[in-house]
Amino acid sequence: MNWNRIIRVLAGAAALTGAASMPVAAQVAPPAAPGIPSNPSPIGDTSAIAREAQGWLADLVRINTTNPPGNEQIAAMYIAGILNKEGIKAEILEVTPGRSAVVARLRSAVMADPSKALLLVAHVDVVGVDKSKWTVDPFGAVMKDGYLYGRGAIDDKGMLAANLAAFIALKRANMRLNRDVIFLATADEEQGGDASIKILIAKHWDKFAAGFALNEGGEVLLKNGKVQYVAVQASEKVPVNVAVIARGTSGHASRPTKDNAVVHLASAIVKIGGYSAPVHFTTIVRRYFEQLAAIEDDEIGKWMRSLDASDRGEHAQKVVSDANPLWNSMMRDTIAPTMLSAGVRANVIPGEARAILNIRLLPGDTINMLLADLTKVVNDPQIRFEIQPDAGLAAPPSSLESDFYAAITRVAEREFSNAPVLPFQSTGATDSAQLRLHNVQAYGLLPFPLTDEDFRRMHGDDERIPLASFNKGVDLLARVLAEFAVAR
Ligand SMILES: [Zn+2]
Repeated sequence: MNWNRIIRVLAGAAALTGAASMPVAAQVAPPAAPGIPSNPSPIGDTSAIAREAQGWLADLVRINTTNPPGNEQIAAMYIAGILNKEGIKAEILEVTPGRSAVVARLRSAVMADPSKALLLVAHVDVVGVDKSKWTVDPFGAVMKDGYLYGRGAIDDKGMLAANLAAFIALKRANMRLNRDVIFLATADEEQGGDASIKILIAKHWDKFAAGFALNEGGEVLLKNGKVQYVAVQASEKVPVNVAVIARGTSGHASRPTKDNAVVHLASAIVKIGGYSAPVHFTTIVRRYFEQLAAIEDDEIGKWMRSLDASDRGEHAQKVVSDANPLWNSMMRDTIAPTMLSAGVRANVIPGEARAILNIRLLPGDTINMLLADLTKVVNDPQIRFEIQPDAGLAAPPSSLESDFYAAITRVAEREFSNAPVLPFQSTGATDSAQLRLHNVQAYGLLPFPLTDEDFRRMHGDDERIPLASFNKGVDLLARVLAEFAVAR
């Protein structure tokens, strides 16, 4: 901790309340985001620790963990240092050289039941930046206008710092727990490679085995200054990359041939681009639309209620799909061509041309079934598909009937003036799939009230988190812990 940082953190907190001249000690409650009530949580007032955690977040943003290469080790040591200072034993688990996870535990009993334990998960690595497009240093943790800017401010260092704060708040409150609470910071989430949670589980599962987990993947959507809904991720789509390979005769470009691989590839991609996979509803997606229909405007709400109707269901699916790319992707397998490569010289017809399709399967659908359809759509013997390594694995969904889902729902409804809590099947992948494959009831709740505009900056330019929302997120997590893990 250095004094400059303390000043910056305090200045950020003061600016938020719009009362920079007010003595810091007088600010007893966390500055509330618009429309968000603020009263002390059962494990105490979280405003002080939220301000402290803003400093941890800033420090974590300054530790560059762009993946690749990740370099999560330094961040892991920083986190372990914070935990150790609180008297919590933190263990650094090396996954591959220079790439580590951190685990720590608050015990409920000498011999606790792992199946009851609650795991707080966040990843330490971040995606890269295009520095020229940022208006601030992406690794400078600049605080201005009530925001903290930086790569990872939301995804996922925001949640990492908030998890750390809620975990430490629980320790400081010194209350009797009804289950172990485990803090876990993971590496290599953004690439899912050989330092990822998959390998971590294979090597160290006994260190963090749990029945329940809270991770990123959901959202608290802020619209017109009010929380519109809280989406709790209980399932996710499965990413698979597929190469499309066109073969033809190579030769001199002055004598074009009909079997030119570039032409055949381009034609195949156009056909794939026009293809829409059939709609399948999972239980979670059905419930998501049913609940969302109640708060959307009349027109789109009406179509959401008709998605399953035998007479106009098909039309409703089209209207809803066209209204929002997220909704489209929640209902069907999607295919996005993302890379193209062919040719070595301007005057040489190449013998091969390739594209990469980034495919997101609904859980339950298989890549082979989809590729059988695409083969028919493309209908070209010069084209073949090749499934790329490192495809995601389909995991069973987390239950919407578990005690933990109910606890999250109760707390979120209470904290956000009865905003609806919707189950969510995310289109993006998270560490939760691997946890679900190990029988963990894992839920995604990015706890910060954020506008769509701020959400879109995740993985984009000028990623930032409103400090008031960060504080609220810390408070929300602390309340979830109080509700689910504190003995009554
Ligand atoms: Zn993430």
